[in-house]
Amino acid sequence: MKLLVQKFGGTSVATQQRRELVADKVIDAIKRGYKPVVVVSAIGRKGDPYATDTLLSLLSNDKNYLEKREYDIIMACGEIISCVVMAEVLTKRGLKARVLLGGQAGIITNDEFGNAEILKVDTSKILTIIEEGYIPVVAGFQGMTQSGEITTLGRGGSDITGTVLGAALKAEAVEIYTDVDGIMTADPRIVDDAHLIEKISYNEVFQFADQGAKVIHPRAVEYAMKGNIPVYIKNTMSNSKGTLITSSRENVGKIITGITHMASRTQITISFEQNDYDTAIDDIFEILAKNKISIDLINVFPEYRVFTIDSKQVETVKNILDTLKLKYSIVQNCSKIAVIGNGMRGIPGVMAKILKALRDKNIKVLQTADSHTTIWCLVKEEDTNIAIQALHDAFQL
Ligand code: ADP
Ligand code: MG
Repeated sequence: MKLLVQKFGGTSVATQQRRELVADKVIDAIKRGYKPVVVVSAIGRKGDPYATDTLLSLLSNDKNYLEKREYDIIMACGEIISCVVMAEVLTKRGLKARVLLGGQAGIITNDEFGNAEILKVDTSKILTIIEEGYIPVVAGFQGMTQSGEITTLGRGGSDITGTVLGAALKAEAVEIYTDVDGIMTADPRIVDDAHLIEKISYNEVFQFADQGAKVIHPRAVEYAMKGNIPVYIKNTMSNSKGTLITSSRENVGKIITGITHMASRTQITISFEQNDYDTAIDDIFEILAKNKISIDLINVFPEYRVFTIDSKQVETVKNILDTLKLKYSIVQNCSKIAVIGNGMRGIPGVMAKILKALRDKNIKVLQTADSHTTIWCLVKEEDTNIAIQALHDAFQL
């Protein structure tokens, strides 16, 4: 049995007309000889009537009334609505469809509500449904604990549902349908002349996703890689070939694969001069870790320590530093730009080229870091788009 998992994002199921295009893709898969398994996200994006954020806005901002468990129940509703609506569209087109919630599709998780981890996938029900001639239409982004509690997998989690099912079912491939033609050299909303990347390795896509390109969830990439399942990113609204993600190393000869960024970063500097010598400075990373603060772009110098955090955590970090009586300086509204490419390994001059491109646009670089496959530059948030375009031009992507 040739199985194909087809996941459709929020914009793909947003309107009746788009849902018909989704049905076209499902029918096309059947014509290609596949038994499709459909996974859907909630209908629309922020502001749309049945989007997850809209459902959440029915509740107050005060998180002190409900437990995280209850939040997961409302957050799971968007996908539940969406899969029933999609099942009707498929049925009207003459197909047999059966709706499955995450738990019914066999996705069993731990009880970390809001960001649950998948413990196992029991594919028996999906397989029975397929054998009975139905197309399973699975609510993405959700699972269930062993004891029957509804959980969610974290924002963008429908991608995870797609690849985890693909791996568990040993599908021929997973197709992730969205509103762009595939993975591009930069976010096409920022860079007009961004190019489609036809083939890319799991590793590089993981870097992309992990560093802020929301075109696929990083954990979805991990599951696909573990199961060695090819993933295609495609456009529901076009017939573009899309991007193929596999283990094979592509883009040979290209130094840089693409550019992405993460907004809402805050840079914190703690200097010995400001604080005399204080052992708390030496212990700071450990103290932050104990408080579950994830830090990034860490540079350790004899005179000072510098790092960045998610701006959402600024108040918590300030409290910690104030309690330790440490003085610090802080730069808010930063953006971490990541230039990604397996090909930059051992190639001299990449950093120099990046810095020159930014200098030519009068963009101040607040900090840099590099690994074998990524170079990061911290800039002010307002410089993000110009910086990305400048780097895109400099490397002729
Ligand atoms: P969906 O609702 O289908 O899951 P998302 O909004 O999660 O869609 O992801 C698709 C979006 O990802 C695109 O609209 C695009 O703006 C953004 N994106 C960011 N970086 C990239 C990139 N390098 N290539 C393609 N899309 C990107
Ligand atoms: Mg998404």
